[in-house]
Amino acid sequence: MKVLLASPRSFCAGVERAIEIVEQALHHRGHPVYVRKQIVHNKHVVAGLEKRGAVFVDELAEVPEGATVVFSAHGVSPAVRVEAAERGLDVIDATCPLVTKVHAEARRFAARGDTVVLVGHAGHEEVEGTMGEAPDRTVLVETLADIEDLDVTDPAKVSYLLQTTLAVDEAADVVAGLRERFPALRGPASDDICYATTNRQDALTAIAEEADLVLVVGSANSSNSVRLVELARRHGTPAHLIDDVRDIEQSWLSGVRTVGLTAGASAPPGLIDEVVAVLEPSSVEERVTARETIRFTLPSAARRP
Ligand code: SF4
Repeated sequence: MKVLLASPRSFCAGVERAIEIVEQALHHRGHPVYVRKQIVHNKHVVAGLEKRGAVFVDELAEVPEGATVVFSAHGVSPAVRVEAAERGLDVIDATCPLVTKVHAEARRFAARGDTVVLVGHAGHEEVEGTMGEAPDRTVLVETLADIEDLDVTDPAKVSYLLQTTLAVDEAADVVAGLRERFPALRGPASDDICYATTNRQDALTAIAEEADLVLVVGSANSSNSVRLVELARRHGTPAHLIDDVRDIEQSWLSGVRTVGLTAGASAPPGLIDEVVAVLEPSSVEERVTARETIRFTLPSAARRP
């Protein structure tokens, strides 16, 4: 069996920054450091930080007054920031700068009187945070079918935004559908789907059709990981999402000569090494479609004692 490794894969700059923020907070502030929601959508990352003293909570109400709380990479709505300030919490914001960019666009588009159509997945934390910037002016569209039912105040004043981890091809179809319905549609100056999402999808596209089976390392609540599985299947290749080697079923490997392997942006790179070790391939070939050099600086609050 041969393994084809997609590259880039695994951690992106926003995830590395968010994890480092929690690590720095644990180092400088002492325990406990609370984290609102999963810092990134990966169970191994969360379990690792929990072992080191991070306490993950769903809501700020679970954080004692005055305690340190880290906001996750997916961002929060302004209402959450207000609640944190009212409760005197010591906030360290690990929102990915590329999510912050989308929040700024939401505020700008809403301020000029547009209806803001956010293309994304209902219930995802990033979507909840972005919608919270202008809740009265923002509507969510998940699929092309949702466009028909859209009710906007002025069809000449409609803008769109995208969740950062959407499938590039599917999002393009939805934006085309929006433009058909609202010819004056305006959008962001640069892509909302982030470089890491795009690069991981491009890298997988480069190997998907050559593989008999695609394995994507990532957790089930990781949007960009799930999109990778769907993308491989759209290329006609059976694909599975695995948290780690223990999820691999022997039956998947029957008759498989080439395994395509990748990992979502929140999955630790070491998990890929473990999968390769378990598969015991006769050869491993890495296909590199892009080099990533982006790094984000840490907020100064993360280093403050
Ligand atoms: Fe930021 Fe993109 Fe990574 Fe999300 S996937 S944390 S938006 S770089």
